[in-house]
Amino acid sequence: MSSNFNLTREQFDNVMVPNYAPSKVIPVRGEGSRVWDQQGKEFIDFAGGIAVNCLGHAHPALVNALKTQGEKLWHLANVMTNEPALELATRLTYSTFAEKVYFANSGAEANEAALKLARRYALEKHGEDKDQIIAFERAFHGRTFFTVSVGGQAAYSDGFGPKPQAITHLPFNDIEALEKEISDKTCAIMLEPLQGEGGIIDADPAFLAAVRRLADKHNALVIFDEVQTGVGRTGELFAYMSTEIVPDILTSAKALGGGFPIAAMLTTTEIAKHLKIGTHGSTYGGNPLACAIGNAVLETVNNKETLEGVKHREQMFRDGLEKINAKYDVFSEVRGKGLLIGGVLNSKYEGRAKEFLVAAMEEGVMSLVAGANVVRFTPSLVIPEADIVEGLARYERAIAKVVAG
Ligand SMILES: *Cc1c(COP(=O)(O)O)cnc(C)c1O
Repeated sequence: MSSNFNLTREQFDNVMVPNYAPSKVIPVRGEGSRVWDQQGKEFIDFAGGIAVNCLGHAHPALVNALKTQGEKLWHLANVMTNEPALELATRLTYSTFAEKVYFANSGAEANEAALKLARRYALEKHGEDKDQIIAFERAFHGRTFFTVSVGGQAAYSDGFGPKPQAITHLPFNDIEALEKEISDKTCAIMLEPLQGEGGIIDADPAFLAAVRRLADKHNALVIFDEVQTGVGRTGELFAYMSTEIVPDILTSAKALGGGFPIAAMLTTTEIAKHLKIGTHGSTYGGNPLACAIGNAVLETVNNKETLEGVKHREQMFRDGLEKINAKYDVFSEVRGKGLLIGGVLNSKYEGRAKEFLVAAMEEGVMSLVAGANVVRFTPSLVIPEADIVEGLARYERAIAKVVAG
């Protein structure tokens, strides 16, 4: 971009609020799973935003949707509906347990809507005392004050004054703790079916069964936060589809727009009816431009070929990482599902995940961490096999460097 402005990393510190600590690299262009920075250095993208760019960069189907809708109609207020939104809601209800959809712009907003709906449902159906939300340690649900308070890291929610009340955090996968805590005052249990930010931790099938059984027993709703696991990430359209249970409310964001901001909350007609006219809303939610892109994403992702491709690529990653590990002994475990993969650092490298990320950037591969002990990979669901091979070779060189010290 030709510009008289100073578009450097240093300028970030001059003009941006310091809540992020971005890398020195400033990418300017991407194609598929390759990205180039200002100096023309090329990277293989194993991060995909954070599980957002599910079809890589500049995917032709998404570029086409953006251009086509961009020349037709960008925005309307929610005093009118629009065709792309109706189509996307129809696709989502057709493909899932849900009968009703609410659109938002981010994961946090979809979760905010889910939590407000759960509270409203309980209040109207069962009375004022039924307000407890049970959530889990290490969970991540977004950064609005309600969602960050429901999330399982007090460090993220402390320091902003009085928090929303009646939220209880329990250890994840602990059936006994849940049995002990849940009561008729519980209005909802909220969880990620596979914790992402918290360290790539899968929910045990027995735990999920207990969540469903205990929620039913106490008339509480089950909210699945699938902001990270949804839209093909685990090899199913949504992760709940490979579990034995069905949630009452499900949220989706990240990959839903493939890089364009959009989110959705899905639920049943019976529950949805409690968000009556005027109870909740969003200026941009269900915007035609975002929904047109969401339709192109779903059309490209929600088919056998793409979803089976995710499982095949998962195997390539697992095999590749195990092979590297046999040589360098850095991971105690490689875990996760589909293309949401975590390498858990063993005790020798405890707390050093960020070093691996930085070394990988130097070798030309973008990756992520999930906490201080887990390196994370969330590449495009359609990343070319050759890019997996080349990216893992680069990642191996990065590991060799960290190991050599
Ligand atoms: C990223 C994430 C969120 C927050 O999404 P935003 O779009 O950043 O608001 C919520 N829940 C989970 C599980 C996430 O991974």
